[in-house]
Amino acid sequence: MSPENASVAAPPAGLMLNPRLFPTLSAAQIARLTARGRRRTISAREILVTPGSRNVPFFLVISGGLQIMPATGSETTLLNLDPGQFSGETNMITGRPALARTQVRESGEVIELDRDAVLGLIQTDAELGEILMRTFILRRVELISRGIGDAVLIGSTHCAGTLRAKEFLTRNGHPHTFIDLDRETDAQELLDRFHVTAADVPVLICRGDVVLRNPTNAQIAECLGLNAGVEPTHVRDLVVVGAGPAGLAAAVYGASEGLDVLVLESDAPGGQAGTSSRIENYLGFPTGISGPELTGRAQAQALKFGAQILIAHRATQLACARQPYAVVTEDGSRVSARAIVIATGVQYRRLAIPNLAQFEGAGVYYSATAMEAQLCAADEVIVVGGGNSAGQAAVFLAPTSRHVHMLVRSGGLADTMSRYLIRRIEDNPAITLHTHTEITALEGTSHLERVRWGQAGASGDEVRDIRHVFMMAGAVPHTGWLDRCVALDDKGFIKTGPDLSPEDLAAAGWPLSRAPSLLETSRPGVFAVGDVRGGNIKRVASAVGEGSISIAFVHQLLSS
Ligand SMILES: Cc1cc2nc3c(=O)[nH]c(=O)nc-3n(C[C@H](O)[C@H](O)[C@H](O)COP(=O)(O)OP(=O)(O)OC[C@H]3O[C@@H](n4cnc5c(N)ncnc54)[C@H](O)[C@@H]3O)c2cc1C
Repeated sequence: MSPENASVAAPPAGLMLNPRLFPTLSAAQIARLTARGRRRTISAREILVTPGSRNVPFFLVISGGLQIMPATGSETTLLNLDPGQFSGETNMITGRPALARTQVRESGEVIELDRDAVLGLIQTDAELGEILMRTFILRRVELISRGIGDAVLIGSTHCAGTLRAKEFLTRNGHPHTFIDLDRETDAQELLDRFHVTAADVPVLICRGDVVLRNPTNAQIAECLGLNAGVEPTHVRDLVVVGAGPAGLAAAVYGASEGLDVLVLESDAPGGQAGTSSRIENYLGFPTGISGPELTGRAQAQALKFGAQILIAHRATQLACARQPYAVVTEDGSRVSARAIVIATGVQYRRLAIPNLAQFEGAGVYYSATAMEAQLCAADEVIVVGGGNSAGQAAVFLAPTSRHVHMLVRSGGLADTMSRYLIRRIEDNPAITLHTHTEITALEGTSHLERVRWGQAGASGDEVRDIRHVFMMAGAVPHTGWLDRCVALDDKGFIKTGPDLSPEDLAAAGWPLSRAPSLLETSRPGVFAVGDVRGGNIKRVASAVGEGSISIAFVHQLLSS
């Protein structure tokens, strides 16, 4: 497949007209910004930023004009910038490669700032910082909603690998075009001609010139430069493992208080909260907020204060024999730090159902986002679990599915779910709760076609032609990678502070005369926060609270 074919797939991009995407700065604001940059003369048709280039500069137009054009090489203008207006989108903050071309429309003059100067401005000038952050984020949202970017994903929605890659791009906020092989027959012919087999799907065309066949998330991140600008080799003040609400809170508070913070995330920032359709019990959001929006804001906040985040970097080992400790990641690299905060959360338990693995991503899902909802529109679905996440999934899926069956092993929801969700489930005729019920078998060939469930006291199983099951039961902590470096409880959660017994500390060789602080593990300077910590209340607010206060203990440690 040639690069030219990639651009055929991208939709024609039109002019962005929303005025919030190109605010005009006042004379006072221009003066403050000018003081941080350098004047530069520009000539018509001069290219200031090419797609894929790193360390993208920022331009404020003083006279003349700029135009922003898509990466495809098309002459379409996405955005016209006139005097008083500025270039840039979220990659100014993340340091990722440019997604579009910036070209001079009319000769004149600009003020140019490099990325560090923009980050400095955002941190110190509250008014300009707010305008820039808001505009950058709105521009990225616009690029995502129009699929304007440098990635084309070709695959089938019935393929687990496609779903994974699509979810990875979506959760990382990377704009992309998706070509569905089940709908676009031309695309299938094209793949056949280039000997792309079913095993190679999905195919990712990356930045117009690299074709990846069934890539891992780490390969996608590498190709699109999602970790650009992160220098992993020097010893940090703090390494945070996991970028859910707890890890992001630690990053925000750590970086805002001057610590050199690196966050390692195995997948995409946001954690479990990032898969929630609507969080309604987090303080300050009376009408609720979607998980991706809440955690997307937290990520921007952490980056704004200078924290760095390495995505698709799974921690596989904590080298804890001597200080500074090091975290080893899947690709074998090591990052060292004076303090470590573990915020790796939990995952849903994989139920002991024969052939479960065969249907994962092909009828069995572990999150209920808009992407999965689209797949099962107008079909009957099953949600397994009685916690808040299962309740949210049922309420979220009910309007678009034919019917939602909630299966719980217990006799009801009262002990496990918030009252507001129980009421919504009870009031919704599209949801049926089946108590004392468990799935006994999954059947199908390449996709789930049938489900059997058994109810305590009933004779025989019930068989239903249901093609979609959302597994949202149980919580298994992500602690397998710690390999006895820190004491765990009998369910595998990390013990901290007062929960550590004298025997735990003796077994771990606790070397200090002081006791471990509230969130400290059996290893001095290693802290655990959020869902992964034994005794934690599994809520966004407690994850955020623990992540934030862990920084006070990190400061105490670093200053001792
Ligand atoms: C669908 C759903 C809806 C929910 N709704 C609500 C709600 O409405 N209100 C509420 O208060 N709570 C809700 N919760 C619970 C809430 O989301 C969690 O309590 C919260 O996300 C826990 O945050 P955390 O940072 O501790 O862990 P997580 O959110 O689980 O984040 C952990 C992160 O660590 C990463 N990670 C794991 N292992 C590694 C490794 N080895 N290396 C690097 N990274 C790793 C994971 O990929 C993940 O991003 C919901 C949960 C779900 C699943």
